[in-house]
Amino acid sequence: MTSETIKSGKCPVCGSTDVYDNRGKSPANHRKFIIVSAVKSFIVDTYVCIKCGYFKEFIRDKDMKSEKLMAKVKDKWNKTSEVTNAG
Ligand SMILES: [Zn+2]
Repeated sequence: MTSETIKSGKCPVCGSTDVYDNRGKSPANHRKFIIVSAVKSFIVDTYVCIKCGYFKEFIRDKDMKSEKLMAKVKDKWNKTSEVTNAG
């Protein structure tokens, strides 16, 4: 690993290891979703440092490994680049 993220259990801002996440918690009550299409969505894991309040969200690993889901993203979403079609 070349870049340290809060996923390692250590806050990249204040260096505290008082880091918590909501992985594996009940989807109905705790998890957030990012809608990809009518039938597909990411589930978001949230990591928070309870010392300084820094938090960061990641798509859960299982979804990152889903080829179907990633194919849907490529189909439905914009490829991010310096060239925009805004306006
Ligand atoms: Zn912190």
